[in-house]
Amino acid sequence: MLLMNLNMFSLQGRNALVTGSGTGLGAGIAVALAEAGANVMVHDRREGGIEETCAAVRAAGARAAVAMGDVADPKVCESIVETTVREFGSIDILVNNAGIIRRAPAAEFSLQDWNDVIEINLNAVFRLSQMAGRHMLAQGRGKIINIASLLSFQGGILVPAYAAAKGAVAQVTKAMANEWAQKNVNVNAIAPGYMSTDNTAALRADPVRSQAILDRIPAGRWGTPRDVGGTAVFLASPASDYVNGHVLLVDGGWLAR
Ligand code: NAP
Repeated sequence: MLLMNLNMFSLQGRNALVTGSGTGLGAGIAVALAEAGANVMVHDRREGGIEETCAAVRAAGARAAVAMGDVADPKVCESIVETTVREFGSIDILVNNAGIIRRAPAAEFSLQDWNDVIEINLNAVFRLSQMAGRHMLAQGRGKIINIASLLSFQGGILVPAYAAAKGAVAQVTKAMANEWAQKNVNVNAIAPGYMSTDNTAALRADPVRSQAILDRIPAGRWGTPRDVGGTAVFLASPASDYVNGHVLLVDGGWLAR
């Protein structure tokens, strides 16, 4: 019997930065990467949740360190990448997870909300990828994982800026992958479906929308932070070395329906 070598999924000796990992999907991804062997720089703009994520990373046997700050500020993007390199010696994995959502009808959507969402969900993704990418190109190896969305493919309801930013995240994933694939830097994205986190609290609190969403998910349940962890490990590991510019759905079958 031929047994698969699971070492191809090992992240032993790798150093990761996961933005927005004090809670939600980022926390789930940080812990999964640690369980596969990676040291994790846990990042968020508020302290809540940071210690729990660090404790879970350490419980998995990996090193955890903390970098705080708002990624809307370009200086913060630079400093959290540099802190990762200084603390761990390299940055091998970047997960661009931090994100926000603002809901309002397009006719009333404020310019402030539009700018905030584009700044955090798109501009910061490019800046962080560029800054981490320079280190990865210099060392001849790296994995960048952007967190996209079903709204990279669909328009959604009442979230025009979010849909615009996530659509662009899918495109910039492909654009950077095309440039960097030959240099051993893989740029890919995960598109989560409807996941049970703070980001979807308003949706889940609306019984009509919540039931309509559930009825459409072939898997018959909302996703959890744990559900994206294995996909992130795959995209961070040597198992995905020939995967470039891909947007991988983790949606319980939503888009297949
Ligand atoms: P979440 O529970 O709200 O967690 C997001 C984390 O990112 C929070 O800790 C948040 O801090 C942080 N963050 C937001 N803006 C930041 C900034 N400017 N600087 C630093 N940290 C910032 O949301 P989530 O559901 O885990 O979402 C994670 C990612 O998955 C996002 O990119 C989201 O768009 C994407 N996603 C989520 C779903 C879903 O169904 N939940 C589906 C598809 C895609 P604050 O609490 O201070 O804002």
